[in-house]
Amino acid sequence: MSYETVIGLEVHVQLKTNTKMFCNCSAAFGAEPNSQICPVCTGQPGVLPVLNKKAVEFACRTALALNCTVNGFTKFDRKNYFYPDLPKAYQISQYDKPFAVKGFLPVADAAGNEKKIGITRVHMEEDAGKLLHPEIRNEENGIRRGDFSFVDLNRSGVPLLEIVSEPDMRSPEEAYQYLTMLKAILQYIDVSDCDMEKGSLRCDANISVRPEGETKLGTKSELKNLNSFKFLAKAIAYEAQRQIGQIEKGEKIKQETLLWDQNKEITVPMRSKEEAHDYRYFPEPDLVPVEPAKEWIESIGKGLPELPHIRRQRFVSQYGLPAHDSAILTQEKSIADYFEETLRHFDSPKAISNWLISDVSRAMNERKAGINGLKLTPDGLAGLAKLFETGQITSKAAKDILQEMLDTGKKPDIIVKEKNLAQISDSSEIEKVIRQVIQDNPKPAEDYRNGKKTAIQSLIGAVMKQTKGRSNPKIVTELLAKLLDELKP
Ligand SMILES: [Zn+2]
Repeated sequence: MSYETVIGLEVHVQLKTNTKMFCNCSAAFGAEPNSQICPVCTGQPGVLPVLNKKAVEFACRTALALNCTVNGFTKFDRKNYFYPDLPKAYQISQYDKPFAVKGFLPVADAAGNEKKIGITRVHMEEDAGKLLHPEIRNEENGIRRGDFSFVDLNRSGVPLLEIVSEPDMRSPEEAYQYLTMLKAILQYIDVSDCDMEKGSLRCDANISVRPEGETKLGTKSELKNLNSFKFLAKAIAYEAQRQIGQIEKGEKIKQETLLWDQNKEITVPMRSKEEAHDYRYFPEPDLVPVEPAKEWIESIGKGLPELPHIRRQRFVSQYGLPAHDSAILTQEKSIADYFEETLRHFDSPKAISNWLISDVSRAMNERKAGINGLKLTPDGLAGLAKLFETGQITSKAAKDILQEMLDTGKKPDIIVKEKNLAQISDSSEIEKVIRQVIQDNPKPAEDYRNGKKTAIQSLIGAVMKQTKGRSNPKIVTELLAKLLDELKP
């Protein structure tokens, strides 16, 4: 029997506000433990939370970018549970009146075919603190966990958005595309840095399987803390196969919470699923409900930039780029901006795209830098592409010049002059070299004349070597063939 996998994702994203959700403490990452705390975010008695307006604005930007309806009435609720990293013993979240509902996000496969994935809700909440379990090292026992733990409350009260999708995804690849597009949108609208290593983007997946053609949903398991794009697709694929295996054996799927063990590459149970009422949600009495005005929502909507999927389509229609190029270029706003800025200096979209997707991307990986962290400017890249496209330099020289530009930030025409890299397109100059090469290499010349046409390659190589790779390869090939015929001994 063939099965269908049904996937829904719950994504927690940290908003990049300067201060926390309900107090004035810094929300920045990486400070000394417990250096960014106050009576509010450590849950001292008698304190009152004050809502961060910027966080609400970011929630609104996100909701609108995800095509959601922003509720005219939204409120906060207490989600009660005990854990040592949660000093209040409740988290301020939103339960039955979330900030926004009923949106969608378009994902595209490699060929550019779009599918809309439904967004159920977007709600605001605060983050908890972080527990640290230090390891004790001693001579006798080796390394073991200490019998105490530390708590760092810097993260306590940092603003989060929870974005819940409909169970609309049907494959691990689609889940990957959804998360990639969501991350791109959040970065475009500048509400989060979406850095998974810092924990500012966290993902849980609900996964179930059902026989192909069945419309009822199967029992789902919840896969927690998929904190890497790489593991997400792998973990989902594994879990779907595990469930299919169980059904085939005639066993029932248990509703449970799982974790991905990335060393063993399997899913392992965490704890049995808590029902919603276990949290004893009730309205947060210290905060008034929020009723966003229509005009305010509209003004936020007007401030949104062009979103990645729209830009992707525009790059195809306006610049005639293939869907593949367009998808890569628009994934990060900085790269899409850089691309368009480069075009202002040299209007040759496919040529610029080729440079960005191949050599410049590689340079970014090697140098662990973003596009704006490179010494290569849009103006410089345009100059380089132009020198190459107009035949003034060879492709070999172009690659060398790019490296020099990345290292020094020099302009390409300066490097061409300094290193004498201009392409030789003067036929008479090339002809002189060719005559000499034919004279010096009688064997391949003879082979060529006897019908072994590939022998010309070694002669081309010799000419290129003589001219330090600067000869126009097209002219060399044509002239060589011509002269080999003419100069028969
Ligand atoms: Zn605080």
